[in-house]
Amino acid sequence: EETVIPVFPWFGIDIGGTLVKLVYFEPLDLTAEEIRNEGEILVNIRRYLTSNRAYGQDGVRDDALELKNIELGSRRGNLHFIRFPTSKMMTFIDACVMRNLHMLTFKIFATGGGAYKFEKDIVEKLKISWCKCDELDTLMNGLCYITKLNSKECFYYEEPQNDANPNKHPFTFDINHPFLLVNIGSGISILYVESESSYRRITGTSIGGGTFLGLCCLLTGCSSYDEAIQLASEGDSTKVDKLVKDIYGGDYERFGLPGHIVASSFGHMNQSDKRDQASKADLARATLVTVLNNIGSISMMCARTENVHRVLFSGSFLRVNDLSMRILAYAMDYWSGGEIKAIFLEHEGYFSAVGCLRQFLM
Ligand code: ADP
Repeated sequence: EETVIPVFPWFGIDIGGTLVKLVYFEPLDLTAEEIRNEGEILVNIRRYLTSNRAYGQDGVRDDALELKNIELGSRRGNLHFIRFPTSKMMTFIDACVMRNLHMLTFKIFATGGGAYKFEKDIVEKLKISWCKCDELDTLMNGLCYITKLNSKECFYYEEPQNDANPNKHPFTFDINHPFLLVNIGSGISILYVESESSYRRITGTSIGGGTFLGLCCLLTGCSSYDEAIQLASEGDSTKVDKLVKDIYGGDYERFGLPGHIVASSFGHMNQSDKRDQASKADLARATLVTVLNNIGSISMMCARTENVHRVLFSGSFLRVNDLSMRILAYAMDYWSGGEIKAIFLEHEGYFSAVGCLRQFLM
């Protein structure tokens, strides 16, 4: 019996609150007949996507994340990871038309809020059939697939506080033991995952990656995420935050609170002399630490309530953000007395888009 393989191109798209994540499967095993039938438009698209790392002003291919020569369904190919700001979605649709994608009929699976918000614009301008998927279902689906495919996908830090070498190691991940999945995008969703096919959303918080970026832009005048992270890496949050020792002169011994922990985020900023001493970098660092402390403590409470010992962090907030991962890893380890482990993922924010791509094969 012959299995029906969906026609190329295979794209998965996740249109989030801040970033659009697009994954593209480049087939490496096209038959002579498929090559004959592929047509000029598709050949051009394939060449354009795979031979560039930047598309227009705002599109970027994360080529370091590319998964080469992998199996998807019964096909072999390279998996490419592309992103651009959601604010440029209309420009993206017009660029598709310019490259004649509106002449082709094909199917695409889409997720994220933008799959709903932009549906009308897309089906008006392009001939594709637009299949909407739930973003948490696709997140789980993409996570299952990539963690099985790539033995180095998950990692942890053995010494998160060691700046010279935090000792990053691959983590052997078994998806069928319960864990927490904390997805840090513009906002945050926290899932309790029991197994591949069973999960529920426990809670969320609006204080996420969007909050960090928004507050950083307000406080420092920076204008991009990469700039905000760079600033934060150069700053000192203790110039901004009020620590336990600023209040006690030392530790708050009775309840085991060491002097170096934050008692009040931004707690120094009511004093004008302290405000004068805080640099932009210090403010960026304090914003980062504030958001991370909140994420850490909510994740910890959820992990305790659900009685799990592994917390996986996904989402683009952890992009080029080794600093945040180490702060989170240290906080989780410290507050759980070493019981709860923070685990991170190489493909950060791309899992939902990958989950969409897999819909072709289900
Ligand atoms: P969403 O699906 O809500 O867009 P993501 O998982 O893509 O969420 O994460 C968005 C967050 O990632 C932003 O709020 C910001 O903190 C961070 N981020 C990482 N890279 C970028 C970037 N190039 N531009 C904007 N934000 C970025």
